[in-house]
This record gives sequence, structure tokens and C-alpha cells, in this order.
Amino acid sequence: MAFSKLGLSHAMLEGVKAMGYVEPTPIQLRTIPLILAGRDVIGSAQTGTGKTAAFALPILTQIDHHEPQPRVLILEPTRELAAQVETAVRDFARFTDLRVAVVFGGVGYGLQREALHKGVDVLVATPGRLLDLMQQGTCKLDRIKYLVLDEADRMLDMGFLPDVRRILQKCPRERHTSLFSATVPPEIETLIQWAMKDPETVEIGARRTPAETVKHVIYPVSDAQKTDLLLELLKRVNYDSVIVFCRTKYGADRVAHLLKRNNHAVAVLHSNRTQREREQALRGFRDGRFEVLVATDIAARGLDIAEVSHVVNYDVPQHPEDYIHRIGRTGRMEAKGDAFTLMVAEDGRHVQAIERFISQKIPRVKLEDFEYRYTALFEENKPGQPSTGPMRARGARVRGGYFYGPAKRRR
Ligand code: AMP
Repeated sequence: MAFSKLGLSHAMLEGVKAMGYVEPTPIQLRTIPLILAGRDVIGSAQTGTGKTAAFALPILTQIDHHEPQPRVLILEPTRELAAQVETAVRDFARFTDLRVAVVFGGVGYGLQREALHKGVDVLVATPGRLLDLMQQGTCKLDRIKYLVLDEADRMLDMGFLPDVRRILQKCPRERHTSLFSATVPPEIETLIQWAMKDPETVEIGARRTPAETVKHVIYPVSDAQKTDLLLELLKRVNYDSVIVFCRTKYGADRVAHLLKRNNHAVAVLHSNRTQREREQALRGFRDGRFEVLVATDIAARGLDIAEVSHVVNYDVPQHPEDYIHRIGRTGRMEAKGDAFTLMVAEDGRHVQAIERFISQKIPRVKLEDFEYRYTALFEENKPGQPSTGPMRARGARVRGGYFYGPAKRRR
């Protein structure tokens, strides 16, 4: 099915063509007609599926004249996502004269106020800064016709739901609402009941399945050798660009420092960095100046960083859905990717949760010729017996120099 059959405006079709999109992705195929028909939509799809175009194209198709106040509001959990979505919307709208603006915290108010005074048709915003601007009287939402709540579960995780509610209360009741969320926890369910009208759910693929194009494995290792293993992996893997995920900001800084000392071109992305530092990090990583991006989950969630050849989970994610988001950075739009997860003894419970979540066993792998000082992680415990022998002992086999085998049972 071609874009031209979906009922989009001529300007949107031109925009899509200029972006080089040939045919709609599954979420676009399902969502575009629904939004054009005026339905509220709940979208759940893996990252990299093209969800921005899925909501932006049909909304922009229906906005054809200027008004002083914004008519489209897109709420995003982080400044990076907001900036990214604004860029995408500008790209789609390049053959229209729609005015697009983005507001987020961490930067001065001047330019954002100026843009709002001049008049904006499509506003992309993070909740905190938008509320500030509303309280100052700079931004009014009483003309909003289309509201998009993007990455709603992440807004919940970040504690933005009360802000989101306050913003929604200022929008007209007569409006169209779309909500995108990888998971639908009870709080989001309540928000849906409260904010949406008879919504249609569009679920693309099993949202708990990693992209089929990603090969993902686990490297068990002792805590003391984690950094050595990371350095060795980076040395051996033929990567173009790699994201290393860490659990904490402090951990991200530490790993970045280590990689720098070992002559890697590294950028860091986490929420303690200034907006400028974060933008520089992203830009440098996108244009290839930095080959490694060290990031925390919150900073990296949903960012459109294309063509990442590898993802390394330096720390096992604590929420299973973050595993999918992290490894979704690679293997996007059918590019092949590899994802490695370093696992220490204490991570057993989290790894089990991830494996349950994705209904898959992730192969354990041993890096050949790496001097493991502590090998108990590779040993398999049989019930009632102390652990003996390498994990090859039961059912595992050697493939391409790696040991693939069943998971160690944790006591
Ligand atoms: P998103 O899930 O919206 O972040 O999109 C992920 C990536 O897919 C972005 O780089 C988009 O530009 C790209 N993309 C979205 N839709 C299409 C399409 N129909 N054909 C090719 N690329 C697309």
C-alpha cells in the first residue's frame, strides 16, 4: 500500500517523498486512516517503527490555516525527544507554511516566548516548561484540536503525570487525543479513561519481542572484571557506533571516563548534563565524531539514533521493558544489530524477569581468550549439588568460538 492511498494531503505526500520514505510502516498503515477519520488512538509499537509519522502526517493533513494559538500539542517526556519530534514534524511540514515550535526546560525562555508570541500552529513540549509558560500567560491551550501524549509510560516513570493532567485540564474537551506507550500500567489506563473518547488500540507486533534483526547475548562476568570485559569487547567487535547503557548517571560518567582513557571518542548523555552538553553529545554521535555514546535509560529512551551498530548494556536494565527499548537502538528499520548485556551475579533476578517478559532465553556467551578470573558464573548448578564444571556441561554447545548454553540456576 502506498502513502498516496491513505488520504494524506498533497503537502504531506511531498514531505514524505522528500524524506525518502517509500511505503508506510505497519503502524502508519493502521494509525493514519484512524486519525484521519477522527478517532482517538492508543498506539503501542516498538521504537523505530515510524510512530512519529503515524500521528504527525494525519494531524498535519487536517490543519490548513493559521490561528494565533496552537492547535496541535505534542507532549514528550524529555527535551531530546521533544527536539527530535519537532525536527521530524518540521520535515513533514516543509511544503506547508505551518509554524512549528518546541518548548522544553534547561534553556532560556526568550526564544520560546518569542516563537509563541509570533504564533504557533504545532507545539511540541515537555510538561514542566509548558506549565511554566502557561502560568506566565505566554501560552494558551484553549484552541487545541489535536493532542498527542507520546511515550506516556515514560512520562509516568518520570513523575510527570500530575503535570500532564493539569495541562489536559486546560485543553478543550472537544479535541482529538492520541496516546503512545510501550506498556499500559494502571495509571496510564486511568489516564486513558479520563482523557480519551472511545479510543481504538493499534498494537504492532508483540510489543514484548525484540526486533528480529537484533542478535542479543549475555556475557556473564564478575563485577571486578566488568570494565576489562567492556574494553575487550569494544576492541574485538567491528563496530561503527555503539551505545553503552548504564544504570546511574555516576556510572555513566565513570564508564565514559574509562573509555576516554582508552582512546575511544566518547559522548555522555544523562539528565545531569546541561541542555547544551546533551545536544552536543547527540549531534557529535549522530555525525560520527563520537563513536561511543554512554547513556542512562531516561536520557536515551525513544531517541532516534539511527544506524547504531551495537548496543552494550553495561548494567542489566532493572525494568524488563527497558531491555527492549535499549536493544531497539540497534536493528532499527531492518538494519542488522548486535546487543550485548554484561551480567554479574547479582543481576540474575533482573535477567530472569527480562527473559520472562520477552518469552525468550538469551544465550550466555563467554568471550574467547579473555582471562576470566572468576568462572563460577559459567557453572551450572544442578539441584542438590554444588556447582561444578563449565556451563557447557548440559545441553550447551560451542558455536563460532562462543559457548552457548542454558542459564545458570541461581540459588
Ligand atoms: P520513529 O519510530 O518515529 O522514531 O521513526 C524511526 C525512524 O524511521 C526515523 O528515522 C524515521 O525517519 C524512519 N521512518 C519512519 N517512517 C518511515 C517509512 N515509512 N519509511 C522509511 N523510514 C521511515
